[in-house]
This record gives sequence, C-alpha cells and structure tokens, in this order.
Amino acid sequence: CGIVGYIGKRDSQAILIEGLKKLEYRGYDSAGIAVFTDNGLEVSKAKGRLANLEGKLQGEPLHGSVGIGHTRWATHGKPSDVNSHPHTDNSAKFSVVHNGIIENYLDLKDELIAKGHVFVSETDTEVISHLVADEYDGNIIEAVQRTVKRMRGAFALGVLTEFEPEKLVAVRFASPLVIGVGKGENFIGSDIPAILEHTRDVYILDDGEMAILTRDGVELMTTEGDAISKEIFHVDWDL
Ligand code: GLU
Repeated sequence: CGIVGYIGKRDSQAILIEGLKKLEYRGYDSAGIAVFTDNGLEVSKAKGRLANLEGKLQGEPLHGSVGIGHTRWATHGKPSDVNSHPHTDNSAKFSVVHNGIIENYLDLKDELIAKGHVFVSETDTEVISHLVADEYDGNIIEAVQRTVKRMRGAFALGVLTEFEPEKLVAVRFASPLVIGVGKGENFIGSDIPAILEHTRDVYILDDGEMAILTRDGVELMTTEGDAISKEIFHVDWDL
C-alpha cells in the first residue's frame, strides 16, 4: 500500500525504510525492499511489521545507492514472505513494487506460464515483473510501456532492472505516486511525507504518466511515450 524509491549517491536502505515508516499510516501487512548491491539486484522482504524487515536487514544489510521499497496491503494472495513485494522474474534481473490491482492478471499469468515463466507467489503483481522481463529487448522504458498497455486495473509501479542500473522507472495509473527531485539524487513515493525529509520539489504524476529517474535527472512522459512538461510543486508545509 506504499511505495518508495531512491536513486542517488547515498546508501539506500535506511532511506527506503524511513520512507516506508512515513507510509505506515496507510496500513500494510508486509514489507520489502530491492537494492542494487555488488551482487546484483537483491531483495529482502518479510510478512508483518516493518520491524520484521528491519530485523532481517540487520542480519543481512543490502548496500547500494539505488533501491525500491514497498508496504503491502494484500488484495490477491495471503500476507506471507513470498507474496510480499518486490517481485522479480525468473532471471531475477527485474524487480517491481506495485500498489493497486491488476484485474486481468489471471489471463496474463496463463499466457506467461505457457511461455515457460514459473510463478512463485499468489499475487497479481508477480505478472508485472514477468511481463516486463518478457517484453524487454534492451530498453526498459519501452518494456514498461508495452507492459502497461497489456494491464487493466489500478497501479502505481516502481521498476528496476539489472540491465540498466542507472534508471528507476515509475508509472502511475489510478494509484497515487509522486516524484521527489533532489540534487544528485531523486525519489519516488506514494505521497509527499515519504520523501519530504529529502526534498520539497515534487512532481505529482497524473494517470497515464511515467517518470524515468536517474541520479541527475527526471524525465517525464506519458505511458504512450509522449514527452510531457510539468511544473514542479514546491511543498511549503511541514509534517
Ligand atoms: N495487489 C497487490 C498485492 O496484493 C498490491 C497490493 C498493494 O497495493 O499493496 O500484492
């Protein structure tokens, strides 16, 4: 039920966890993060309170300066470690966090299983990570755009791929998502409090819009690929 993401120069784990804490009020039953570490795209997730995830991370921290995080409010599949986000594909090269519901996930899942994809969770979200992997042919932006075209429902997404570790892709369709613009670092969050500690300059995405974040910039476009320009919203209130 909450999404955060970071791409910058600082270690991301603490930023992701602190961001997720700010989203706790939205309610959740499990939590997880994915970070680009020296070993590639690594995921840690746990059912229950954020403290459970923090406990796991204390034993096995994920160090790296790009990551996504999620608190889940289960809609498809019970709360469990495996059903927690982020979800990956079979190559473990793609990682996705998702808020919302994919209405046609069973059809998409059948199609992907027929193509040889193996699913490990009961969630609707896992079809997204597999679909992005399936659509990928060297350009993560286009792969996400093709994926989104195939999905019906509500979704805010954060997507990472090991093939393009300098990019964090975010999409909004009927679930809220904001982009925080920093200096040498950029953020995504389900709402402003999740990122307010780090920046007051925010893009508020509208339905059908996506953002491609790098350390040094944010590119905005529609999910059809048309460039858009948007005013920065300057947050002048405090928590
Ligand atoms: N439908 C997804 C799931 O059940 C996402 C739920 C959410 O928004 O947290 O895993």
